[in-house]
Amino acid sequence: MASATNEYPTKAYGATSPESGVGPMEITRRGLRDDDVLIDISHCGICHSDLHAARNDWGFTNYPIVPGHEIVGTVGAIGDGVTRHGVGDRVAIGCMVDSCLECRHCEQDLEQYCLDGGMTGTYNGVDRRDGTQTFGGYSQRIVAREEFVLKVPDAIPMAEAAPLLCAGITSYSPLRTWKVGKGSRVAVAGLGGLGHMGVKFAAAMGAEVTVLSRSESKRADAEALGAHDFLNTTDKAAMKAKSGAFDLVLNTIPVRHDVSPYLHLLKIDGVQVLVGMIDLVPEFHSRVLLGRKILTGSGIGGLAETQEMLDFCAEHSILPEIETIAMQEVEKAYDRMEASDVKYRFVIDMQSLRD
Ligand code: NAP
Ligand code: ZN
Repeated sequence: MASATNEYPTKAYGATSPESGVGPMEITRRGLRDDDVLIDISHCGICHSDLHAARNDWGFTNYPIVPGHEIVGTVGAIGDGVTRHGVGDRVAIGCMVDSCLECRHCEQDLEQYCLDGGMTGTYNGVDRRDGTQTFGGYSQRIVAREEFVLKVPDAIPMAEAAPLLCAGITSYSPLRTWKVGKGSRVAVAGLGGLGHMGVKFAAAMGAEVTVLSRSESKRADAEALGAHDFLNTTDKAAMKAKSGAFDLVLNTIPVRHDVSPYLHLLKIDGVQVLVGMIDLVPEFHSRVLLGRKILTGSGIGGLAETQEMLDFCAEHSILPEIETIAMQEVEKAYDRMEASDVKYRFVIDMQSLRD
């Protein structure tokens, strides 16, 4: 498998420009450093961020890009100094593959907010040691340092485990940060990959959960996912009737939009957490915050919290709703994702890339 230089030629899917679409390409994974783990990828989830990045929605994509940061598989080889993982272990990688591990934030298990140049993204990032570009999980295999490799509990099937690595942790972390528990009133805006996990987690934590959605067709699903109520956000009267009703709004909407209607839903000291990567928030009058509303954001979660979330899912039998697709179907999946036509996460079966 490894070449003379110990690098790993690797089949992948990626984009070469905003218009190219995602298609086959060949990449090279580095030969193993002492602290590296080689993972044979079995599945990779499709996050809306992959679409944003492949199509350069944020304006900072370095092409070529291989998206994918919901990665699961088995350990195929380990570097000489690796102690946390062994060959054959079921493991996972999320949105980051490195950080300094020494700064104040890293020391608090908040590696995603590393003060030394930020976390190293699983894709579209720059390796801290050799300056090469990082490539994500739409590929046969990946190499990463052992600290950034998580363990997939036996109770979670591989395909279902994948979306937990981004959609899962990104919705779990703010619920923990803002201490959601029994009696909390939580609303989740946007019922997609992140949103549907937010509903499941908040319900499992004992909250009373409401889905805020434009899609009336998702009303029945919301209940099946564990929500107690459903609010059609296009119904102005229904929205008004819920003014001041919630402790927390988890806003997962992936486009620029006016966040003030969601602020009005908050009670005093209520919190709206923006997790959607929507570039600029439109200007809003400070009046909308005067009822002591808090508007904040949240980025994925740290390594320890991600492992905690995986274990929480195993313990509470929480799994994402997935549709498994072949690697060759990614562009179609992106289009469907853009049309909010996904229930509720696409997962690529990487066998389709090997065949
Ligand atoms: P997704 O699966 O596409 O779900 C987004 C949902 O938002 C849709 O299902 C839809 O729900 C709603 N929506 C879509 N377009 C909308 C529009 N024009 N107006 C209002 N609502 C709309 O996306 P995702 O994978 O959950 O990702 C959501 C966002 O989070 C993306 O921007 C992604 O980049 C970001 N993200 C952030 C982090 C982080 O660390 N902060 C991590 C991962 C992802 P309804 O049909 O119910 O309205
Ligand atoms: Zn993601």
